[in-house]
Amino acid sequence: MHVYADNAATTAMSQVAIDAMLPYFSEIYGNPSSLHSVGQRAKEALDAARATVAQCLGCEPREIVFTSGGSEADNQAIRSAAIYGAKKGKKHIISTAFEHHAVLHTLQRLEKEGFEVTYLDVRHNHNITAQQVKEAIRPDTCLVTTMYANNEIGSILPIAEIGKVCKEAGVLFHTDAVQAAGHLHIDVKAQNIDMLSLSAHKFHGPKGVGALYVRRGIPLVNIIDGGAQERGKRAGTENLAGICGMAAALKDACDHMDENMPKVAAMRDRLIEGLSKIPHSALNGDPHNRLPGNVSFCFEGIEGESLLLLLDMKGVAASSGSACTSGSLDPSHVLLAIGRVHDVAHGSLRLSLSEYNTDEEVDHILTVVPEVVSYLRSISPVWRDLQTGKREYIL
Ligand SMILES: *Cc1c(COP(=O)(O)O)cnc(C)c1O
Repeated sequence: MHVYADNAATTAMSQVAIDAMLPYFSEIYGNPSSLHSVGQRAKEALDAARATVAQCLGCEPREIVFTSGGSEADNQAIRSAAIYGAKKGKKHIISTAFEHHAVLHTLQRLEKEGFEVTYLDVRHNHNITAQQVKEAIRPDTCLVTTMYANNEIGSILPIAEIGKVCKEAGVLFHTDAVQAAGHLHIDVKAQNIDMLSLSAHKFHGPKGVGALYVRRGIPLVNIIDGGAQERGKRAGTENLAGICGMAAALKDACDHMDENMPKVAAMRDRLIEGLSKIPHSALNGDPHNRLPGNVSFCFEGIEGESLLLLLDMKGVAASSGSACTSGSLDPSHVLLAIGRVHDVAHGSLRLSLSEYNTDEEVDHILTVVPEVVSYLRSISPVWRDLQTGKREYIL
C-alpha cells in the first residue's frame, strides 16, 4: 500500500485543476498584455481567475496580485509594510517564533536593515493569543505578521481576534495563509486582514503560483521589476495556465470544504488517538484549534530521519518537519519554539492528510508507525539509557 501523508509539503493536483490548465498551453496561448484578440482571450481568462480567487477570499478582484507562490507573496507583503512603515518612522514588527522560513528569513533580513522584530512566544498551547499581540504593539509598530495556521504542527491562530486588535491599533496585519487557504473558511474583510498570502500547490493546484491579497490603499513595493503586469506591482508575463489552475483548485476546495473538512478531521483524530498510545510520545500543536489534516508527534529515543526512511519503505510518505528543513541536521525551529528540547525535537513525525486519503490508509499508518518506532527504539543507545535509568525520560 502506498500512502501519501505529506500534503503540507505539497498536494497532488486535482483533475479539476488539470482540466482548467490544459487550454492555456496550446489553445489560449496569447499574452494577456497583447492588444489583438488572441491576447484579449488570455486577458479575459486572467480577469476571470482573479475574480474567482477574490470571491473565495471575500475581497475585490483588484485586491489580488498573482505571484510565483507563497514565498514571494510573503516577501512582498512584509517588505512593502516595512518600507511603508519606515517612511513614517515606524520600524517595529511583530511576528511569532514558529513562522515559515519565507517569513522568518524576510524578517531576519529586515533586522539587518535596522528593523526591530518581536517574536511572540508560542509555548502556551503551541499557539499565540490576540492578547499577546495587543501587549506587544508599540507606537512604532508598522506590521503584525502571523501565520494563519502552522505548517508543521497544525495550530490555527486566532486570526479574527488578531485582526481586530490590529485594526483598533491602526497597525497593518499580514497573514501567511498558505496552509489555510482552501482548507479553512477565510473572509479577509470580516477578519480584518490587510494582506494575505496563499499558494496553489497546497490545495491541489499547480506548483509555482500563488497570490497576495492586499487591501485597497496599501502601497506595495515590487520584488520583481519590469513590465506593468499586475497593476505594475509584479512584473513578468503572467503564468496564465498556473493562475487558471490555481483559481479552479481554490474554487473547488472552497465549494467542497464543508464536506471535506469533517472527513479529513475524522481521519486526523483517529491517527492522533492511535499514535498517542505509543509510550513516551507527545502531540505537537494546539490540540483544539488544529488544521483538519495535521498530525504531529515527537517520540522519545528515536531519530526522525530513520523513522521517515523506514516508513517510506513500508509505503508511507511522511515528513519530520517542514520540507525545507529536512536534509539539515538542525531540529525544526518550530518544535524548538514550542519548547521541545533538541533530543525530543529530533524524534518528530508529521503526517498531513487531504481528502484523497482513506480510512484504509489510516489503518495502515496505525499499524506501521508503532512497529517502526518499537524497532528503532530496540536498536537505539539513547533508548537503552532511558530504560536503564542512565538518562531521564522527558516525555
Ligand atoms: C508551503 C508554505 C510556504 C511557501 O509556499 P511556496 O508556494 O512553496 O513558496 C509558505 N508558508 C507556509 C506556511 C507554507 O506551508
